[in-house]
Amino acid sequence: MSPRELIVLGTASQVPTRRRNHNGYLLRWDGEGLLFDPGEGAQRQMLLAGVAASDVTRLCLTHFHGDHCLGVPGVVQRLSLDRVPHPVHSHYPASGREFFARLRHACAFHETADLREEPVERDGPVATGPFGMLEARRLDHGVESYGYRLVEPDGRRMVRELLAQFGIRGPLVGELQRRGSLEVDGRTVRVADVSAPRPGQRFAFVMDTRLCDGVYALADQADLLVIESTFLHEDRALAADYGHLTAAQAARVAEECGVRRLVLTHFSQRYDDPTRFHHEAAELFGGEIVVAEDLVRVPVPARRAVPA
Ligand SMILES: [Zn+2]
Repeated sequence: MSPRELIVLGTASQVPTRRRNHNGYLLRWDGEGLLFDPGEGAQRQMLLAGVAASDVTRLCLTHFHGDHCLGVPGVVQRLSLDRVPHPVHSHYPASGREFFARLRHACAFHETADLREEPVERDGPVATGPFGMLEARRLDHGVESYGYRLVEPDGRRMVRELLAQFGIRGPLVGELQRRGSLEVDGRTVRVADVSAPRPGQRFAFVMDTRLCDGVYALADQADLLVIESTFLHEDRALAADYGHLTAAQAARVAEECGVRRLVLTHFSQRYDDPTRFHHEAAELFGGEIVVAEDLVRVPVPARRAVPA
């Protein structure tokens, strides 16, 4: 199983349908589990998807419409019920503090979980860690809305053949990484001599919004982009009125921003045939397209090849 993958918990906008739960997405990224926009029923969808409450390390809300946050009470209470030992950081638009307070304490329960509120006040970094940097960008919706992206910095990976060539093995490898260079048999070996560039990976999450600068900034060079496409192009007037995107707009963003794998989601209940989203997007985007279904897993694509 890929240690970096998206687990789709729900894909419906506004109201759940027989086949689609309200929104909800868990991004597994090494040791992190970022839960995005849990709508109603998220707790049960987690069960069906094999996601434990203890897998969640961060809660990221784009905005306070019900399909993006009504799952918070259940998930938050479950953290305490399961005695999740690690802190869970919560990011949400700062203007919605009052909503979050209500969701967090919607009814009586014995609170033991360490839920740390870190509201998003402006564009920019939200958190940094071994995963890289989590950033937020303002979107354009009826209420204040932020999208997120995870950016792993470029790094280097050790190449076994080169290490062997210089006679570096065992604990010496760690020492070289710590110190940056090492004396071996009278010559200096630098990390660059025995390693190759390792391009960092990017994940972007764009929910309810009209097209705006923030959408492009978030999607830029994303290996995996999860983006709302509530409507089809034929209903673009509705999309504009209600502050949403069409599949065509999402696909054009992906194409212009160099996205590799595109996940379309947050569908209006008015459409019966999900393949229409795929067809519309495929006319404008040459990369891989996933029309999300509940409970599917979408791996983050393998790292980009290093330019020769
Ligand atoms: Zn929505």
